[in-house]
Amino acid sequence: MSRFELTRIPFIKNTLKSRYPQLAVFIVMLVGYIFAILAGLIGTPVGSHNFSIVFVWIAWWAILILVAVPFFGRGWCAVCPIPLPGEWLQRGAVLSPPDKKPKWLNLRWPKFLRNIWMQNISFLLLALFSSVLLTTPNITGIVLAAMLFAAIGLSTIFERRAFCRYLCPVGGFIGLYSQTAPIELRIKDKQICVTCEGKPCYNGSANGYGCPWDVFPGGLTKNTYCGLCMECIRTCPHDNIAINLRPFSADLAKPSTRMDEAFKAFIMLGSAMIYAGVLLGPWGAFKDAAYNVGTSAWFIYAVIFLAIIFVILPGFFTLGILKTKGSLPLKQRFASLATALIPLGLMFWVAFSLSFVLTNASYIIAAFSDPLGLGWNLFGTANAVWQPMLTFVLAPAQTLALVGGLIWSARTAQKAANEIRTSSISVIAFSFILTLVMLWLLL
Ligand code: SF4
Ligand code: SF4
Ligand code: SF4
Repeated sequence: MSRFELTRIPFIKNTLKSRYPQLAVFIVMLVGYIFAILAGLIGTPVGSHNFSIVFVWIAWWAILILVAVPFFGRGWCAVCPIPLPGEWLQRGAVLSPPDKKPKWLNLRWPKFLRNIWMQNISFLLLALFSSVLLTTPNITGIVLAAMLFAAIGLSTIFERRAFCRYLCPVGGFIGLYSQTAPIELRIKDKQICVTCEGKPCYNGSANGYGCPWDVFPGGLTKNTYCGLCMECIRTCPHDNIAINLRPFSADLAKPSTRMDEAFKAFIMLGSAMIYAGVLLGPWGAFKDAAYNVGTSAWFIYAVIFLAIIFVILPGFFTLGILKTKGSLPLKQRFASLATALIPLGLMFWVAFSLSFVLTNASYIIAAFSDPLGLGWNLFGTANAVWQPMLTFVLAPAQTLALVGGLIWSARTAQKAANEIRTSSISVIAFSFILTLVMLWLLL
């Protein structure tokens, strides 16, 4: 497979090796994040006029799902401010190299939790309350603050970035879909790693910290757990780390056999479909149930939500592959073939988000001038009238995304099936039916 090493370009390499450009972006992001928390807590309760809702759930979400994840994988994690205060506290430093003395408790993360089930649960919790979260500024402020404090708390108890690696609800799905991105961080020469003394990329050195994501860069084969923090580029004494451009979805050629990752694919796929039905579908009762958190209707909604994700979708998927021949046990076939749902789910999210973002993007213009909804008019745009944007491209773009996702999923299914010597027909049929449902929900 052809790759182009971006770090061969001196400007890119020097920018990534230096800590200062990244720190500058981090500080801007951290200020924006803290402002979003404050706006949520003290700004107007009208979501469409509050910075926390408009910039987090419309602007940031649009950039994340339509650009950052599909093209840069974990690129957002490279500049995300959430782990920063905890990491600075953990290291006792902002920029200076490590002094080797562990700060705070520095415990290893428990072995039985070294998977993404906690991330699956944290995402589902947000998903179940998302109707309220997406529209109520103070709830958004509280959730953003809780993520920041959880990251700080875990940094003082556990080593490295435990929050990012095992708990962050956003990081879980970015990691899943980062496998499809045309960018990767990998070693250049395996042999150099074999003979490298001390493995500073993992253990740290005077030049920098050991991998904050608890990954050994020398063994990286997929993007999922590399947070693109660039630390190993700084610590590797042999200049053996590269950032490469590569074909889309290169990581999916070797399907995962992990059930936590397979269920992540179902969670994301099912959530996109449920959101499309609840937020854009014609069923008012369904929407009311999602919004009225704590009522019996909401509990029924929550049960249906979880049943679709954990029983109905995986159940039909399993029925499809049950009769297919293969040397692997059913559980491994299930996990491997679920790889095909990764591109499908990503494109479902792209198609759903296009509706959501283009309908609400004009709120961004007004919120620029009046981010707290307090009657300011900083840039003269506070009175910009709400109107859906680019409505004429919406349906064609969504159709393209969904059909493209189906073709991408079918190709991935074929490769995964070849890898484990089984048939891809039932998985392709499953993806086809879900794509029809999604087309019906969105168009
Ligand atoms: S995993 Fe979550 S908190 Fe960590 S860098 Fe990524 S988005 Fe931010
Ligand atoms: S420091 Fe560099 S050469 Fe050594 S193991 Fe890590 S990536 Fe390989
Ligand atoms: S140190 Fe290297 S391998 Fe580890 S998260 Fe950072 S960029 Fe990825």
